[in-house]
Amino acid sequence: MTRISWDQYFMAQSHLLALRSTCTRLTVGATIVRDKRIIAGGYNGSIAGGDHCIDKGCYVIDHHCVRTIHAEMNALLQCAKFGVPTENAEIYVTHFPCLQCCKAIIQAGIKTVYYAKDYKNHPYAIELFNQADVKVEKVELMEKVIDFREIQA
Ligand SMILES: [Zn+2]
Ligand SMILES: [Zn+2]
Repeated sequence: MTRISWDQYFMAQSHLLALRSTCTRLTVGATIVRDKRIIAGGYNGSIAGGDHCIDKGCYVIDHHCVRTIHAEMNALLQCAKFGVPTENAEIYVTHFPCLQCCKAIIQAGIKTVYYAKDYKNHPYAIELFNQADVKVEKVELMEKVIDFREIQA
């Protein structure tokens, strides 16, 4: 039996969360981690109790779906809602964060961003992460780690 690494474990968690996405444009998941513990998670979705893009279609303005709260934002807002500090935390996301999420991640004091897939990787986001001394590292998910059929009875 091979033991799953922390990076793969948290990245798998983000990919599981992405499966809960309600916006059809992009399924994204994010997991916030501190001291190897998951403190929050989020996926691309509408406000609680609101209409879902999968039911009503996306609400697109200027090529963006305005109905959706990004996975990273949802995870950060969960921390805000329940008073969980995000200073010096790490975030595992399925896709490279957009500019808005990049700024929120920096401002929340998160120090490391692990992402699995490149997604438009905005040069200004890269610049801001550098400027804020936030470490950004690509961690691809090995599909094998989420094959639960391997678990022996
Ligand atoms: Zn949408
Ligand atoms: Zn975003």
